[in-house]
Amino acid sequence: MQDVITAAPVARVPVRDGAGGSFPVHRIYCVGRNFADHAREMGAAPANPAARGRPVFFLKPADAVVTDGQVPYPPATCELHHEVELVVALGRDAPAGELAVEDAQGLVFGYGVGLDLTRRDLQAEAKAKGLPWDIGKGFDASAPVSAIVPVAEAGALEHRTLTLEVDGERRQHGALRDLVWDVPSILHELSKLYRLRAGDLVFMGTPAGVGPLQPGDRFRASLDGIVEVQGRVLPR
Ligand code: MN
Repeated sequence: MQDVITAAPVARVPVRDGAGGSFPVHRIYCVGRNFADHAREMGAAPANPAARGRPVFFLKPADAVVTDGQVPYPPATCELHHEVELVVALGRDAPAGELAVEDAQGLVFGYGVGLDLTRRDLQAEAKAKGLPWDIGKGFDASAPVSAIVPVAEAGALEHRTLTLEVDGERRQHGALRDLVWDVPSILHELSKLYRLRAGDLVFMGTPAGVGPLQPGDRFRASLDGIVEVQGRVLPR
């Protein structure tokens, strides 16, 4: 069968593999409140590691990825916020059913660093009304992301940190060992809700220090020693 319209191509993220590869994006899952200090700054109770319940999940459209760092200031908001996050890229489909925690790492193709850009005013309004977060989180160009670094090159993450600078000033800094749910736990929890597929990206949640981005601001997000993404917010 032939397509009857011309649709946008699948979104892709470059891979830092020395061969110019690219990673086609299937879905973008995001985790909320995965650092206790950020949960507190948002007025939420930090998760209790002993009785963690279910993580907070939401999604962004696959084509929300920005790979050239150029972020148009989004419409319908006066409060665009940055959230620097570890990005996990899945290279294999999960088996049917629940994914065991001990099998989860085998799905991971690589890592990157990204920004979970948020229209905070719209998210706050949705929260207050008990409505979905979609318009606050899942908008066009809401997911600037670095190149994906394959697991073998990235090495162990437990001693790594995330940093975000805006116009040269440090805004966010957090250690991955402080994640409430680590990568295998998040993939296990997601697999109870969705069939994980090759091409999925998972934004793992942000440390404290979220704040506004203005038109013209330049940002630099890094997963220290591994990869970074630089860019700017375009004028309105
Ligand atoms: Mn986030």
